[in-house]
Amino acid sequence: MTALNNDQNAFEKLKRFDKNAPDFPSNDYLMISRGMMNEYGVGLAHQNISMFNLITNMLLFKGYTLSEKINYYKGSLFSMQLFDNAMNDNLFESSASFDVPVYFVQGKHDYVTSYALAKAYLDKIDAPQKDFFTFEHSAHAPNLEEHDKFIQTMREILHTTSANKSKYRKIQISDDIELLQLSDKAYVHVSISEIAGFGKVSSNGLLFVNEDEAFLFDTPVTNSQTETLVKWITDSLSAAVSTFVPNHWHDDNLGGLESLHAKGIKSYANQMTIDLAKANGKPVPRQGFTDLLRLDLRGDIVECHYLGGGHTADNIVVWIPSEKILFAGCMVKDIHSKGLGNLSDAKPEEWAPTIQKVMEKFPDAKIVIPGHGQIGGKELLEHTSRLLIKC
Ligand SMILES: [Zn+2]
Ligand SMILES: [Zn+2]
Repeated sequence: MTALNNDQNAFEKLKRFDKNAPDFPSNDYLMISRGMMNEYGVGLAHQNISMFNLITNMLLFKGYTLSEKINYYKGSLFSMQLFDNAMNDNLFESSASFDVPVYFVQGKHDYVTSYALAKAYLDKIDAPQKDFFTFEHSAHAPNLEEHDKFIQTMREILHTTSANKSKYRKIQISDDIELLQLSDKAYVHVSISEIAGFGKVSSNGLLFVNEDEAFLFDTPVTNSQTETLVKWITDSLSAAVSTFVPNHWHDDNLGGLESLHAKGIKSYANQMTIDLAKANGKPVPRQGFTDLLRLDLRGDIVECHYLGGGHTADNIVVWIPSEKILFAGCMVKDIHSKGLGNLSDAKPEEWAPTIQKVMEKFPDAKIVIPGHGQIGGKELLEHTSRLLIKC
């Protein structure tokens, strides 16, 4: 800024603005000061990138559709309207805590969003993960000025975020079964099995424990895996599995049912699941229900809802109100899924309306467990809806 002191022209231009005026900083001031910042390498870019270059690059870039390009400019204009809000909002107070990881990628010469202020802000906030990436040779657009480093940084962020993707305690109970502890009482069991036509697949089930009693939702694919799981529950949690409910009739939900029956464990299922299991030569659950089964685990309620077809005709969801846990099963895809998985028994026309019902019925779900893959929140329901629109 020393240079600015000697720049009579700039000095004259800025002199007419009163820092204490009620309308400061006016749009007029912003336009003039932004222009100067660009000249001095502390605005959009530190070196070598003009606004003209930026706009032509943007217009010629093949990665965006025309409507995305138009929306980009609309978005910029819209942001200008929010300027008053931004000026009157102290983020240090209004936005100090986040449920998601927060990363700042910031050019050291940036005075559009002050580098020093951004650093101080990141120090102050609370987030599951946070980090600050300084770009020594950039101002406001490190993605344009130091693109290689920018791409590398994005990869690093992606990597650290996914490496820490499971915030839940892991308990490995055998080579092919692990548990993720969601709370004092709730666990997800994750087992790996060979599924015909799909190779090795990892599947999720739910375990809910209160004192010395446990409910199990879905078995691993085989009887022997299911025995290993039940034995671990008995030995390590000192709890007996009393009740079992499968999500639907496939092997990754009830493949180990016979080993549960052999232990005298009660089984309930959607009546359609019972009928389909019978028709397909699978182990058959004993007690049927139609729309809703309410179970009571020593005072903790668990609800099994049938809300329509999707991945299969009979798939249900399991809801634990006290924990806000939704075990959604195979009708919901994990956030990394790019497709809908095994569609051989799917009900494509019912699937989207069913997901819609699930979203409406459990607006306060905190943890959403898909049949396969990474546990998430309600965004998994949105993600599945989007996959359904695409297909
Ligand atoms: Zn299935
Ligand atoms: Zn499945």
